[in-house]
Amino acid sequence: MNLVLLGPPGAGKGTQAERIISKYHIPHISTGDIFRENIKQGTPLGQKAQSYISKGELVPDSVVIEIALDRLERDDCRDGFLLDGFPRTVQQAEALDRYLTEKGSRLDYVLDIQVDKEILVDRLTTRRVCRDCGATYNIKGMPPQKEGICDKCGGELYQRADDNAETVNNRIDVYNKQTKPLLDYYEKAGCIVHLDGAAGLTKLFEKIVSVLEG
Ligand code: AMP
Repeated sequence: MNLVLLGPPGAGKGTQAERIISKYHIPHISTGDIFRENIKQGTPLGQKAQSYISKGELVPDSVVIEIALDRLERDDCRDGFLLDGFPRTVQQAEALDRYLTEKGSRLDYVLDIQVDKEILVDRLTTRRVCRDCGATYNIKGMPPQKEGICDKCGGELYQRADDNAETVNNRIDVYNKQTKPLLDYYEKAGCIVHLDGAAGLTKLFEKIVSVLEG
């Protein structure tokens, strides 16, 4: 099962990804997580990516394509994968298609989670993430049992540096300009499914399961 999660920042891609991978046992590949891990460790890739990420801009295609395709080469992707946050431009989608075609493979579904802008801004500025396991919470809608502490692993919760109002607005603009054209691209490919991201986490997950098993 080769899947892509598409949608603006704050649509709930990460939360649905956690549920999808635990049900279907495929690797979760988040280019944003790969960048954040590299920034934490101070690698050259992290240093290159940081200035783009902190402004809410996209890391250049050549850099992202290389790390994403490298990750897909690993053995655990042989029976499928869930891409989250990649591709984000038509150029990235074309590179992914070329890579899969060469392998005699293709995408099964592109799951497009749609949410209105006002909801996105509110969700992102109140989001908290676990420093250790990456689980996400929301101090309004989905708070942890103990303030500032991850329910799953006891790690410390923090607010992503790019989840402030100004950067969030820029990330949404960037999504509209650079990522939205992908909807047309995958519409033509015939593998896109549109989902209502305001529907509530469990309802949305049930809908995804019905698509994947339908
Ligand atoms: P995310 O965690 O998916 O919201 O990604 C955080 C940030 O990492 C984005 O705002 C971009 O700056 C960068 N990033 C992640 N994935 C990509 C991608 N596919 N193309 C370009 N930049 C990306």
